[in-house]
Amino acid sequence: MVQAIRIHVTGGPEVLRPEDIELAPPAPGEVRIRHRAIGLNFIDTYQRSGLYKLASLPAVLGMEGAGDVVAVGDGVTELRAGDRVAYGTELGGYAAERNIRADRLVPLPPVIAYETAAAMMLQGMTVRYLFREVFDVGPGTVMLFHAAAGGVGLIACQWARALGATMIGTAGSPEKAELARAHGCTHVIDYRRENFVERVRELTGGRGCDVVYDSIGRDTFPGSLDCLKPKGLWVSFGNASGPVPPFDLTQLKGSLFATRPSLMAYTATTEQLRANAADLFAQVEAGRIAIRVNQRYALADAEQAHRDLESRKTTGSSILVV
Ligand code: NDP
Repeated sequence: MVQAIRIHVTGGPEVLRPEDIELAPPAPGEVRIRHRAIGLNFIDTYQRSGLYKLASLPAVLGMEGAGDVVAVGDGVTELRAGDRVAYGTELGGYAAERNIRADRLVPLPPVIAYETAAAMMLQGMTVRYLFREVFDVGPGTVMLFHAAAGGVGLIACQWARALGATMIGTAGSPEKAELARAHGCTHVIDYRRENFVERVRELTGGRGCDVVYDSIGRDTFPGSLDCLKPKGLWVSFGNASGPVPPFDLTQLKGSLFATRPSLMAYTATTEQLRANAADLFAQVEAGRIAIRVNQRYALADAEQAHRDLESRKTTGSSILVV
């Protein structure tokens, strides 16, 4: 039996149930891993609440983790018991041990600690595809990035600085604003106190941004569109405040572009997944990006972790430990 957190129904944090579950031997193409650390992400709350539909219930939540291979299924040749591995796109993470497809794992370089990996695989690979694939961020880029002091946000601050971009971040308190600034965000707007659309206009001298990365959804729509220059790109990649409401395409006036990307689509093949992770590891190994594990919870305390994340209490990354 294995310690896990499952949901049987969707709902609030109270539906997260600590349970001991049976784990079958790994199927062909799978390995069994023992977690050393498990990542906590906002997507976990969408899956728990039912905003994102799961294929079946009951389900073990969690998309991210790091640990050691303890058994391999038939046909797995590139991994062996004892290998250090990590992942960020596979449901079933909130458990002491799990089975997982070997081709969705990334071997962990010796210099990257388990906790660092569990804190960055999903969020760091997200920043990587947002900055290197969705838009080619470089020294001339002026971007707006919401929730700059969050898990994805603090990695984005550092990656934007490394690329020489101008990053205007938003954050929900003066302390969070300071944290984002300390991680390389060029300008920070406290959007609970200031009108972020007006501040972006001022900061860009009326020009607007090349790209807006919006993971807040309902509360920052349509303001985010008003922060773009003509032909600018609106990247709607999350719904921390609720989904963006249905809208009329004429709201993309100014010849704006819009995309709704997902990490899963950008890491659909093993080659894409490992290329993305290799770039992330290189940034961390070079010291350009430091991963902040600002909250640690016991796996059994996943309910509290969800409450903290959804009530905007956290900064940087959060992990669950077994
Ligand atoms: P964060 O650590 O960024 O936490 C979410 C933050 O959103 C909060 O800390 C808060 O920061 C801000 N926020 C604003 N309004 C609300 C609200 N009403 N309720 C709760 N939070 C609010 O989470 P993650 O780093 O895990 O994820 C960030 C976002 O990126 C999420 O929306 C997530 O779904 C999305 N995402 C999308 C991916 C994709 O591929 N599409 C992949 C990974 C993440 P503040 O107080 O400063 O406003």
